[in-house]
Amino acid sequence: MINHIVIAIDGYSSCGKSTLAKALAKKLHFVYVDSGAMYRAVALYFLRNKINLQDNEAVSDALKKIHLNFHSRDYETHITLNDEEVSAEIRQMPVSESVSMVSALHDVRKEMVKQQQRMGRSKNIVMDGRDIGTAVFPDATVKIFMTADPKVRAERRFKELAPKNPDITLEEVFENLAHRDYQDTTRKESPLIRAEDAIVLDNTDLTPDEQLLFALSKVEPFLV
Ligand code: C5P
Repeated sequence: MINHIVIAIDGYSSCGKSTLAKALAKKLHFVYVDSGAMYRAVALYFLRNKINLQDNEAVSDALKKIHLNFHSRDYETHITLNDEEVSAEIRQMPVSESVSMVSALHDVRKEMVKQQQRMGRSKNIVMDGRDIGTAVFPDATVKIFMTADPKVRAERRFKELAPKNPDITLEEVFENLAHRDYQDTTRKESPLIRAEDAIVLDNTDLTPDEQLLFALSKVEPFLV
């Protein structure tokens, strides 16, 4: 018997996963967890503390010193790293450029997955990421795998970043997305892959409202 609902949303970088996940959580009054923000916060800590990613001991020592917390206001992701709000800094290019290397590390994934599973143990939850339907919640109630044309994705992300990053170029954003997709799909541990039972949602030509309606239609049968 299902006693609570878990919605897993996975997919490529900048596919609109968090926009859909937030909208769903808001509509259904579920908890929203942005799992990418957790990997980004870890990557930020590693950058600031110059952790050598090749050094397993340094990585595992660093992980013990990292405390992450979510403070959900209006379904926006507010994440703290050792009590410091880092929600804006984790979106900047230095973190985007290193996060896929950090998230490929075994110890990092083990710790993040453990924390994510704890969050979804008893509550109705929407979580977005890369391995939510395959590794974190293989028994999720509904799994959605999102994809979109890479050019459209880069343009969307560029529009988001450009106002606060006047020097950024569309090419740079496109390259970063391509690079992260490559790393995320080819890594050894929990690569980004569609779970067999995930519903594919290509949103290249869909508005956020259309995506929400589509996802709601998949969740509604489980709402009693
Ligand atoms: O979702 P977002 O683009 O913020 O995620 C940043 C990075 O974190 C991804 O490129 C990926 O390397 C990693 N990630 C992951 N598993 C997740 C969520 C994110 O490996 N569940």
